[in-house]
Amino acid sequence: MAKRPRVLFIIHDLYQEDNHFPLGPAYLAAIMRRNGVDVEIYCQDVFHYSSDELARYLDRNEFDVIGVGFLAARFAETIDPLCKVINHHKKGAWLVLGGPGPSPIPDYMLKTTGADIVVMGEAEDTMMELISGKIANAGLSGIKGIAYMDGVEARINERRNPVKDLDLIPFPEWSLFPMEKYIRCLKPFRANEKDVVFGMVTSRGCVNRCNFCYRMEDGIRTRSVKNVVEEIEYLYKTYAVNYFVMYDELFVFSKKRIRDFKNALTERGLKIKFSCNARVDLFDEELAGLLKDCGCQFLNLGMESSDQTVLDAMKKRTTVEQNIKAAEITKKAEIGLGLNFIWGNIGDTEESLKNNVMLIKKYNTYDQLRTIRPVTPYPGCDLYYEAIKRNKLKDAEDFFRKFSNSDLLTVNFTDIPDDIYCSALFEANKYLITDHYENTTGDMAAASKMIKDFQDLYLGKNIKFRGARHYIK
Ligand code: SF4
Repeated sequence: MAKRPRVLFIIHDLYQEDNHFPLGPAYLAAIMRRNGVDVEIYCQDVFHYSSDELARYLDRNEFDVIGVGFLAARFAETIDPLCKVINHHKKGAWLVLGGPGPSPIPDYMLKTTGADIVVMGEAEDTMMELISGKIANAGLSGIKGIAYMDGVEARINERRNPVKDLDLIPFPEWSLFPMEKYIRCLKPFRANEKDVVFGMVTSRGCVNRCNFCYRMEDGIRTRSVKNVVEEIEYLYKTYAVNYFVMYDELFVFSKKRIRDFKNALTERGLKIKFSCNARVDLFDEELAGLLKDCGCQFLNLGMESSDQTVLDAMKKRTTVEQNIKAAEITKKAEIGLGLNFIWGNIGDTEESLKNNVMLIKKYNTYDQLRTIRPVTPYPGCDLYYEAIKRNKLKDAEDFFRKFSNSDLLTVNFTDIPDDIYCSALFEANKYLITDHYENTTGDMAAASKMIKDFQDLYLGKNIKFRGARHYIK
């Protein structure tokens, strides 16, 4: 009998308790299992297994492929050391990296980590072809969507088109994961003790291309509303999930889709709560009402800036007026508001930072502690290439040398000197933290502690601080 391929996904530790369910590996696992592959999952994120424990686990087992997916932000701290352990203990397995972290800079990632392969872009079809190639001892040159080392050279193959019809992809393989852990990880706005909270995606991609945002694939693809609601019903019946965190980059991009979603929930008698991301340009009272009827508790609005020049420079394709209208309508509808601003993009000034703070203050629903982060030119986004063009970055290696924490300045795109840039940001966040505690618990000792955490971060005393909204063990 032919040997069944054996694949391991390692979900790396982020050293925090608010872990999001790893949907990428869960989708891949679903496809692999349907195609006769044995899949195992090693969740360092929720169990915080040490490197030694992982090494012993790898020593006891044999795999054909070991997969690790990640974002760029925590690469140096988490992925680089993890790859060293895997490389020492993987025996004959291929170490395959994927996700938004390695996809735009596969050659750097291959050379830095010693991984065998990087999958660029969405991996459903690519991973199946890779596994077949490994079992058949075939070469890698014909597999679309991968990069690999050929001697000392990185070979980057042609990209692969992503799956067009998302309904063809099976539901994530939840049964392989410690669901009892994941359904207890998140505590979103207006979730009470009884709510069971879990994440899902109803679409992939975005209609836009903001200069600070890297998208693995162009455009947006959606699952049918029927397919989405079937998943909601399954999660509700199987794991009692009633509060859904919609991870879609852009959940609200069509009023018709939200109307269809509402009708589909009503037809099945599903009463849910959810949070999601939205662009501001669609907003009117009708949309807010539909969202509320569907159970929307919290809306992340990508407002980004109070300054039209900056919005235009970042290619947000929205206006300050649309930002304000969306915030007013959402607040009036009593939906929680995530007012997302970043600062330090091309055209930003000390004045625009102050105006960002004032907009947050004006429309804050105080559901979350809001602070402002400096814009970071993560590899792959337009701003990364702009930084290279302006001689502010050399390459990916230079990025990871300069980047240490997403609350810290990596590249200054403004005309403001670095020291003034950093002190202005600290003062802005100090104000927002104080304002938050004054308008919520009144616990000013907690406010002082948070301000001290930010100060220690900015002064380089504790770069492991992960910002205002993470909970750490
Ligand atoms: S920031 Fe939001 S709107 Fe802009 S490209 Fe990224 S996901 Fe789309």
